[in-house]
Amino acid sequence: MKIGVVGSGYVGLVAGACFAELGHDVCLVDNDRDKLAALQAGECPIHEEFLPELLQRHRGKRLHFTGNLVDAVRKSQIIFIAVGTPPKDDGDVDLSYVESVAADIAGAIDTYKVIVEKSTVPVYTNTWVRRIMLLNGAPPELFDVASNPEFLREGSAVADFLYPDRIVVGAQTARCFALVAEAYRPLTDGSYYEKSDMIPGPVDGHFKARLIETSTKSAELIKHASNAFLAMKISFVNAVASMCEVVGADVEQVCEGIGSDSRIGRRFLRPGVGYGGSCFPKDLLAFRAVARESGLHFGLLDEVARVNEDQRHRFLRKVKKALWTLKGKKLGVLGLAFKNGTDDIRESPAIAIVKSLLKEGCRVTAYDPAAMKRAKEEFPAGSVKFASDAYEAIDGADACLILTEWEDFSALDLRRMKQLLRYPIVVDGRNLFKPALMEAAGLNYYSVGRADVVSTRATVTSFMKHAIEEDEAA
Ligand code: NAD
Repeated sequence: MKIGVVGSGYVGLVAGACFAELGHDVCLVDNDRDKLAALQAGECPIHEEFLPELLQRHRGKRLHFTGNLVDAVRKSQIIFIAVGTPPKDDGDVDLSYVESVAADIAGAIDTYKVIVEKSTVPVYTNTWVRRIMLLNGAPPELFDVASNPEFLREGSAVADFLYPDRIVVGAQTARCFALVAEAYRPLTDGSYYEKSDMIPGPVDGHFKARLIETSTKSAELIKHASNAFLAMKISFVNAVASMCEVVGADVEQVCEGIGSDSRIGRRFLRPGVGYGGSCFPKDLLAFRAVARESGLHFGLLDEVARVNEDQRHRFLRKVKKALWTLKGKKLGVLGLAFKNGTDDIRESPAIAIVKSLLKEGCRVTAYDPAAMKRAKEEFPAGSVKFASDAYEAIDGADACLILTEWEDFSALDLRRMKQLLRYPIVVDGRNLFKPALMEAAGLNYYSVGRADVVSTRATVTSFMKHAIEEDEAA
């Protein structure tokens, strides 16, 4: 098939590369000249497993990049809209990018096409896209608008796209549904999984992706409701973790017990510093705004957002508990991305926490395996030091703070960590380590929903060691 994808960001670029992988001819459109130039020059502008391989495999063959939307639309049978839908100040979604793309597509339509909403949008957007296209002169018989929300997760986006739990297609006509379904056929008939050079995924043997046909409004609601539910699961477990801290229970044991119930499941039962990223916070607010506009009070969503916000404050209180005063303290921060596997720092709890620490007068040296370039743009020049590895970040620090769950961090040499730190203090916002292990390593360890590991001896020994070193240096 000939497919156009408008917007070459985290979703559009992955979707475009994966559609090329499925055998389609794909034209990826973007209006960001720098991004386009980078893509055309063979670069991969985001950190995502398997994406460089796919770009390498298909670039210039079945995958093309352009700034010319009209040309891309004319060449394509289906056009996926994957532009950003950022939040406005009131929590509602800014749909102006989607509107502008819809208007531009309208002017380019010459034969029957299906326009697909891939961006996450509120219910009724499908109707609006259709209306905007008609207002901009698109002949009604020459197009349909489908809703095909994207469920990929940053960090495993390519595998998520190629091995989806489900593909949801909301369409108003059989013709429109059939065309979108055809784009995914290698996944739904399983033929992709028989290829010898397929991208490896989480399933063994025969696999066929599940296709769910819905109305356009249902498809739009499925996406918002899914993200709101996942955010709710995270806030729920974080609230349970706070309870564990108060009563002296262990959240890992509690989660093991809760998650073993097949109706609940283990996934997303990981306490931490709260959810972030470009989707959950925005989609939760957008879902709430949709409910409000529909005359419904969905108070549960307010609570989910409140618990999430509170989780950052709780973490800061832990840092204070570990260090007493913060002004002038030197902190080694591990992790800036909103989660592991990505360079995305949008709405990252780590970034928000570092900003609060800077306000308190802390000196921060940070390290992240993928997100440093983006993070550097987030802080005033010189306000944060960036290290070239985790050990450099914590060298001489009063405490090490873990803010992103990168696997590399859980493999750190604890002895070396202790030697490098000025005080043997680790405040872990992601529960990467077992408390017993930290205790054995002589580290004071503060995590989420578990008892603190505090050894006065370790602190005093370390303090004396550094005092002697400072004396000798003087
Ligand atoms: P992004 O900001 O990474 O990418 C959007 C791209 O669209 C940018 O490259 C931008 O330059 C381009 N763009 C904007 N206006 C354009 C125009 N008029 N013409 C051509 N290109 C244009 O955003 P993203 O993270 O890929 O998210 C896109 C949508 O997908 C959002 O609605 C988001 O909520 C949704 N979504 C995101 C994820 C995720 O994990 N990032 C997952 C599922 C759904």
